[in-house]
Amino acid sequence: MKLFNVAVDGPSGAGKSTISDVIAQKYHLIHLDTGSMYRAIALALHEQNVPASYNETFQQALDAIELSMDNGKVVVNGVDLTNKIREPHVSALASQYSALPQVRKKLVALQQQIASKQGYILDGRDICDVVLPDAKIKIYLDASVESRAKRRMLQDLEKGIQVPYSIVLKAIQDRDYADRTRKTDPLTISKQATVIDSSNLTFDETVAKIVDLIENTLKDE
Ligand code: C5P
Repeated sequence: MKLFNVAVDGPSGAGKSTISDVIAQKYHLIHLDTGSMYRAIALALHEQNVPASYNETFQQALDAIELSMDNGKVVVNGVDLTNKIREPHVSALASQYSALPQVRKKLVALQQQIASKQGYILDGRDICDVVLPDAKIKIYLDASVESRAKRRMLQDLEKGIQVPYSIVLKAIQDRDYADRTRKTDPLTISKQATVIDSSNLTFDETVAKIVDLIENTLKDE
């Protein structure tokens, strides 16, 4: 089968990353979770006490960051941050730092370099129109804010983290707002994307819809 690229955008907690993993396995694609890259940069800068506001010091700190994404590991300047970037407080940090155009410029370039050949599935917020405008398959994976909050709460519980529903809901609402209203590359529904709303679908049903979309697109080749 000829290799192809898949772009997946959508809000927090829509299941983009888990679903992208399954699609990657099925079609022998490499999955790049671009959110993890924003999380890593945000955490690294935050830990260096570099706040999310642009000036010369910020640019120097950003330039000094070497981010590598090998074998599912997220490594910044030699330090493995794979687990730490999943801590709940890093989500809001990622949202703040990702609003800065200089951060986006660095990461979009790196993402395009990684996925310069066919055979990738990238998930994030700006993949369809900015990072992979030539992707063969473009998807906007949506779900109601309530169902995303419920799922996130259950995922946290599985990890032993107990956060009340109202707090999880508010955190997702805040992140949605920040990601949708930032000036540079806000989260929007690409005109070229197929929207899949998973609010009332099981995980397997959502995967099946995406597989259908891929099969139909490839069939028309
Ligand atoms: O996908 P995830 O929730 O891990 O992303 C964390 C944050 O990184 C998002 O809330 C968003 O602010 C930012 N992000 C982005 N562009 C991407 C991926 C993530 O701005 N392509």
